[in-house]
Amino acid sequence: MNKFKGGNDRHLSLSNGGTAVFVDVLTFAVSELAREPWDFRFAALLSLQNQNVMGRGVVGFALEELDWGESPQEAAAAKDFLLRVLDLALTRHRWDELTYEPPRVEGYLRTYRAMVQDFDFATAKAGEDVLPGPQEAARASCVRHRVLNGLPFWEECVFCTDGL
Ligand SMILES: [Zn+2]
Repeated sequence: MNKFKGGNDRHLSLSNGGTAVFVDVLTFAVSELAREPWDFRFAALLSLQNQNVMGRGVVGFALEELDWGESPQEAAAAKDFLLRVLDLALTRHRWDELTYEPPRVEGYLRTYRAMVQDFDFATAKAGEDVLPGPQEAARASCVRHRVLNGLPFWEECVFCTDGL
């Protein structure tokens, strides 16, 4: 199981298979919407959730461990980006390109969206090095799959590492 934690001890616990689907659909949405530096740092964090590379059952992160920026305005923009990503994913953005049926992921997305919505970034703990820094932001795209890839950590995107 992998845990994606929100505030107030809420978390989304996903099986390894569930995590892979969650990461796949978020990768489609993040790749579509990323514009600001924080967005590409989150894309890098998402690439670090690739269990093909990191190992099964060892991924996940907590919202309160992320660097939400220097000001409440930056944090609000970052939270808004995450909510827009989740909303786009909930429209089944590019799900027709998946090679499997994702029956349960809509529920995961709704649960996680509620966690992000309710999360108070003022409770975040500063100084944790969970969100990749600006130098580690994901800015390159996989030409084949048209999503942000794992650079600078590795070259392949999450779909490449699935052997697709
Ligand atoms: Zn790829």
